[in-house]
Amino acid sequence: MERPPSLHPPGTRDGAPGGPVNFVRAIVEADLAGGLDRVHTRFPPEPNGYLHIGHVKAICLNFGLADLYGGLYNLRFDDTNPSREEVEYVESMQEDIRWLGFDWEDRLYFASDYFDQLFEYAVRLIEKGSAYVCDLTGEEIREYRGGVEPGRDSPWRERPKEESLDLLRRMRAGEFPDGARTLRAKIDMASPNMNLRDPVMYRISRAHHHRTGDSWCIYPMYDWAHGQSDAIEGITHSICTLEFENHRPLYDWFLDQLDLPHKPKQIEFAPLTLSYTLLSKRKLVELVNGGHVAGWDDPRMPTVAGLRRRGYTSGAIRSFCDEIGVAKFNSTVDLVVLENSLRNDLNPRAPRRMGVLHPVRLVVENYPEGEEEELPATNNPEDESAGTRNVPFSRELLVERDDFRAEAPRKWFRLAPGKEVRLRYGYYVTCTGFDTDPVTGEVTEIRCTYDPETRGGDSADGRKVRGTIHWVSATHAIDAEVRLYDHLFCVPAPGDVEEGGHFTDNLNPSSLEVIAAKVEPALADVRPGEPFQLERTGYFCADEKDSSPGAPVFNRSVALRDSWAKIEQKLAKGAT
Ligand code: ATP
Ligand code: MG
Repeated sequence: MERPPSLHPPGTRDGAPGGPVNFVRAIVEADLAGGLDRVHTRFPPEPNGYLHIGHVKAICLNFGLADLYGGLYNLRFDDTNPSREEVEYVESMQEDIRWLGFDWEDRLYFASDYFDQLFEYAVRLIEKGSAYVCDLTGEEIREYRGGVEPGRDSPWRERPKEESLDLLRRMRAGEFPDGARTLRAKIDMASPNMNLRDPVMYRISRAHHHRTGDSWCIYPMYDWAHGQSDAIEGITHSICTLEFENHRPLYDWFLDQLDLPHKPKQIEFAPLTLSYTLLSKRKLVELVNGGHVAGWDDPRMPTVAGLRRRGYTSGAIRSFCDEIGVAKFNSTVDLVVLENSLRNDLNPRAPRRMGVLHPVRLVVENYPEGEEEELPATNNPEDESAGTRNVPFSRELLVERDDFRAEAPRKWFRLAPGKEVRLRYGYYVTCTGFDTDPVTGEVTEIRCTYDPETRGGDSADGRKVRGTIHWVSATHAIDAEVRLYDHLFCVPAPGDVEEGGHFTDNLNPSSLEVIAAKVEPALADVRPGEPFQLERTGYFCADEKDSSPGAPVFNRSVALRDSWAKIEQKLAKGAT
């Protein structure tokens, strides 16, 4: 897979050498100045879903940082909770990270690789008197933990080390039922930090593991596995999201107790929150399993797979992450920022094409019947080297229903009786009349005359027209299924739900619109991964699953900014 060029032009962005230094970089630089001789980071996803754009922020930060300081980065699956984890997720995550342009080389790890080592460390902690086997049930542990008031010591807290050692071995050997006992760290049941109130290190669970099979029936908790895995891999900076801030004392406590040769440093940053979007694998799983979307790669999903199928490029996603930067405080990024990163990426290079989404016939009455011609059309006004193509023109055209008004409002520069407009790459035409369906009142045909002197879209006499519309030749156009996407949720913060409500209540019922469109013949053989612009309509790509040469299916990746909607809004405001 091709790796995108560096997105960190010197001195321009948060992550750039010489550019403004985000707080994570400031910490790393201080460590380097203080004698640290290398930078080694990791991305530690739990394989319980597909990666989403929030994860990409973490990937760009972790891997980008290592790249920036000539260090290394690991990909480590945090596979400590087998009941929710699947091989499909392990594979999709690797595919997505590669597609984003990152290469972990031979440094692919699994927390489950360390199960033996972690067990040995646990034994060490018991021997030190820093951990004990507890016979309380989960319910009782919660009860003993307390709240604002201090917790109470477990009655098993002072059991002899030998007994704990024996019980831990027997837990591992499968002598006790699921949930019957736990191994807990012996820290402080009165700590104001709940994470330090004798946290559970191991639980008994007879879950089949995708790598270790049935060889374990006890599994380490996240806090126990994570820091030690970092230490084993020689990670220097363990970067995670803010919710782990008050886990840091525990992270450090385990490392201090074990006194391992490497002591990684945990740094927390604000997770990405995007408007109209939910970034949580647990909720995304629910959308998939509940049939609210067509799958993890549904183009409305904020997953890497969904964005890719929608037509997002890895470059656009990475420059988005670059643009939003890294901070210590929570904030919500407007979805428009993500959309703009795609527009900016595609604008200079996506070939322009014409297609009509809601076609209505436009008959050019003075164009000779049976005749046709090829008109040269610019492939990309942003890029001269893109050249031109020919588009067929004939007496019967199709134009957008929306580009015609039987009665033109003020400042209407498109088709309306008596008005002259430019057909893109074509001619000036003047609307002479139209027909409507006697029952529905819907416009069924528009008529016009063309000025042969305006071939190519310029008049010989210098006469100007304000409006330019796109079109296709009715006889030459091909059918295409076009899928238009809107926000998956109809409120900016879909995770906020009222008492008794559920986030799925906030789903946007019209997030997908499927349209039978007519497009110019040049689009007959466009392949997935070849973005194009339908002029005035948006950027599109062929759907990687459903599109085929004879039956194209196009996803709208992102719309263009709609200037007419803005004019109309202004007019509406002025009118009231
Ligand atoms: P989710 O709730 O989506 O499952 P998670 O944190 O449980 O998220 P992990 O697989 O544990 O998922 O995440 C791997 C890494 O990605 C972690 O370091 C986590 O902090 C980071 N991460 C997860 N969500 C975001 C986000 N929205 N923005 C930035 N980083 C994130
Ligand atoms: Mg997690």
